[in-house]
Amino acid sequence: MSERSEPSSAKKAQFGPLSLRPKQCQICRKTANDLPDRTKLLCCGACRREYYCSKKCQRAAWNQHKTICASNQRVLSALRAHEDPSLASCESMLTKWTKLFRPVLRHALARALELDKTPRRILDAVLIVALSRTSEKAVEKAFIVEAAHVASMDFIRATWNLSEAALANTLEDSRNSLNSGGGGCGLVMVRVTDNGICHVMPFPFSRPVPPPEVGSEESQWEEQLMDAIRMGRISQASTSLLCYCLGLFLVGCIILLFIVGST
Ligand SMILES: [Zn+2]
Ligand SMILES: [Zn+2]
Repeated sequence: MSERSEPSSAKKAQFGPLSLRPKQCQICRKTANDLPDRTKLLCCGACRREYYCSKKCQRAAWNQHKTICASNQRVLSALRAHEDPSLASCESMLTKWTKLFRPVLRHALARALELDKTPRRILDAVLIVALSRTSEKAVEKAFIVEAAHVASMDFIRATWNLSEAALANTLEDSRNSLNSGGGGCGLVMVRVTDNGICHVMPFPFSRPVPPPEVGSEESQWEEQLMDAIRMGRISQASTSLLCYCLGLFLVGCIILLFIVGST
């Protein structure tokens, strides 16, 4: 896995990355499903990038969140200052897009870092996915993957001014998770090459990452990621399950034909 330097288009990055957290309480990890009916997760009013189950958890998280929050707000106000509506719409489209393709990005992260063989690599490598905006209005077709590669945590630190606090949080989560039998917490950075809008998302793995399914080449993760996005496939697993079911069905048909034919 080579660690390439960023293409020259990275120079266009003028906003810095926004940190997007998964939609769950950042303290007790509850999701909306764990809350009583009609209660919603609270979200940070200043940056709207982090979620909490209650005021209590929100207060408990503030000490850690304030640095990331400030950096998120800087990026958001830089975006707004450009007074370019296409930037704002690209930003909100990217937020929807990353939510939709979360399972696909997660799968790519696990395969790119070969987390089944080298789980501790999650502590010093990240996955960078370069996207370009299409003219499509549908979220699932809004971006295509230009390239994806693995970079070192230090490279990310130096090139992208990632908030030290955001990294420290993720690394601590990661170490705790690995030490207690989990799979750690990895980072994926998605970057729109046309305008430099960039999101960094943590991906926690609650269990050790299993090896890839039989028949799927670990080395082909980049192609698989590109295909999944191009075809708007939201989950990697469901298609292989679909193929499996279809295969079973066909075998059944052939057996049936054979039985019918022989009587
Ligand atoms: Zn909570
Ligand atoms: Zn915030």
